[in-house]
Amino acid sequence: MKDVTTDPDEESTYECFACGAVTRATSPIECPECGADMRNREIPVE
Ligand SMILES: [Zn+2]
Repeated sequence: MKDVTTDPDEESTYECFACGAVTRATSPIECPECGADMRNREIPVE
């Protein structure tokens, strides 16, 4: 059962696919270290 609510005004933890950098942001961003796409850590990956 998926019951993950995402509040757009609330920060989530994002992890870089490429280099593993972690940052907090309110929306999906590019990695500040390498510019790659970042993934929201708080949403489980299937
Ligand atoms: Zn990166």
